[in-house]
Amino acid sequence: MRSLYEHRPSHGARSAYADLALVNGRIYTGDPGLPWCSALAVAGGRIIARGDRSGIDHAIGAGTRIIDLGGRFAMPGLYDMHTHPDLALAPRYADDLDIGIVDPTPAQVRDAVLAYAAEHPDREWIYGQYFVRYTFRQAGLVPGKDWLDTVMPDRPVALLDRMWGTMMVNSLALERAGITAATPDPTNGYLERDPATGEPTGLLIDGAYALIHAAMPSTPVPVLRAAYRDGIRYQSARGVVASKYVHVCENRLEALHALDTAGELTMRIEAAISWQDDIFPVRRRWELLAGERHYYRSARLNANAVKFHFDGTVEPRSSYLITPWDGANTGWAGKINLTPEHLADMLWDMDRQGIRVIAHCTGDAASDTFLDAVAEARRRPGGLGVRHQCAHCTILHGSNLRRFRELGVTAEFSPVSWYPSRFVSGARSGYGPERLARAYNVKGVLEAGGIAVIGTDWPVSPLDPWIALETLVTRANPWGEMEGRFGEPISLEQAISVMTRNGAWSMDMEDRAGSLEIGKSADLIVLDRDLFAIEPQGNIHATKVDLTFMAGELVHDRLNVESDATWQGEAPKLW
Ligand SMILES: [Zn+2]
Repeated sequence: MRSLYEHRPSHGARSAYADLALVNGRIYTGDPGLPWCSALAVAGGRIIARGDRSGIDHAIGAGTRIIDLGGRFAMPGLYDMHTHPDLALAPRYADDLDIGIVDPTPAQVRDAVLAYAAEHPDREWIYGQYFVRYTFRQAGLVPGKDWLDTVMPDRPVALLDRMWGTMMVNSLALERAGITAATPDPTNGYLERDPATGEPTGLLIDGAYALIHAAMPSTPVPVLRAAYRDGIRYQSARGVVASKYVHVCENRLEALHALDTAGELTMRIEAAISWQDDIFPVRRRWELLAGERHYYRSARLNANAVKFHFDGTVEPRSSYLITPWDGANTGWAGKINLTPEHLADMLWDMDRQGIRVIAHCTGDAASDTFLDAVAEARRRPGGLGVRHQCAHCTILHGSNLRRFRELGVTAEFSPVSWYPSRFVSGARSGYGPERLARAYNVKGVLEAGGIAVIGTDWPVSPLDPWIALETLVTRANPWGEMEGRFGEPISLEQAISVMTRNGAWSMDMEDRAGSLEIGKSADLIVLDRDLFAIEPQGNIHATKVDLTFMAGELVHDRLNVESDATWQGEAPKLW
């Protein structure tokens, strides 16, 4: 087990030989200078030699552990640059309500609430996930407190929708949170209201549902620790070597720190502190940003980032768009949650402290305004030129594609809807055909010289990076359930680079990680198939990762061949 504080003094004696050698492989390096090799030697966690077996012979000594790959395919480990294992899994360990149906009907929601209430008589709050708005529309019903009061009037109930953009609560929950017609909307969301009386309907949009979370007990550290542990174990087993966990608070950092100390942080994690109460209240935000975040710092963990919701989502039509939403006769184009001036000042301030800003931008006007603020920060003195991150990039304006490169901003895309599925056709049609035609423009950003990365954004889409990799290349449904394609595919080489070296760039590590080059960290994976030798459609997503090495350390061993791996066997099933 690796200690948090394991450190090699720069003047210490070092063996000239490798600790580890991988031989007889088909190794894709991601380095255009030498794209393929068959052998690699690793010392002190770094690659010291590569080539064929004879090319690394000089590095093999008596103490070198040699692993024969038997001709198998290997490549750099993957980067998932935006996800939330805590939000997905904490409800399970906290034993919250999980309806467990992809698109539950209102009747199924009602039955699940009643069954949970009966099984948990001591629970004060009935809290859980998910309902979906369109199944209410289909049933001719309106979701909100009136409907929920008919199901459960005497205990507070709060249910999230599957996009995490809306919370439905009953009257008692509103009362516990002190929300009335006189409650103003927060800046990062709003309460749906009766147009005549101003009375809240029980639907809280975007950051507004943090008002309800504030009235509920916060998630305990042991629950969060168990949630992150399973997420990390899954990600390591699926070949992920670095991830960004966005929207963290003090409890979440404590949980990650505990895993780090226990030697169970088998990836590099950048944790982004919530800039405002977008999901739950972050009580020590200012102390963390002022310097407390450094207490959590190790070789594997940092909290030098902030995250916020800049605009909303498609379902409640709160994405901030350059032209109005289709069918909106009021000219409604969505909204942003910070003024441009607030954003520009904040970005500059964070930039001077070396803190990365990760902004949720689904609409084209949101990313446009975000890029303007980065441009403004770049003009002001004292900035460090931090690589800020535009999250989701659902709809980008064509003239912004080149600005990602010019301003050094990462364009992050989430795979939830770049391939057709039932969920997509239900939810995404709201953007209208013109905007959908330029949605998820990974190719456009790459062609304009920018850095694109992916973030699975679990629980909005599956945590499995291989679904993302396949659908980057095909833009088709991996299970063949739906016809057609959505958006422009990119090549396999491009997709691998998006999910490896571009991720390293967006974590400021491209000089030390992200491809298999001499001097870089030995973060690599061995697969059960050669990605370059198979038909991508229907196959890449089913890839099995046999071995995952993190800085030369074996952290996942699917076949239990090497007994010292941190995690053994198949990835746990999480959804
Ligand atoms: Zn997210």
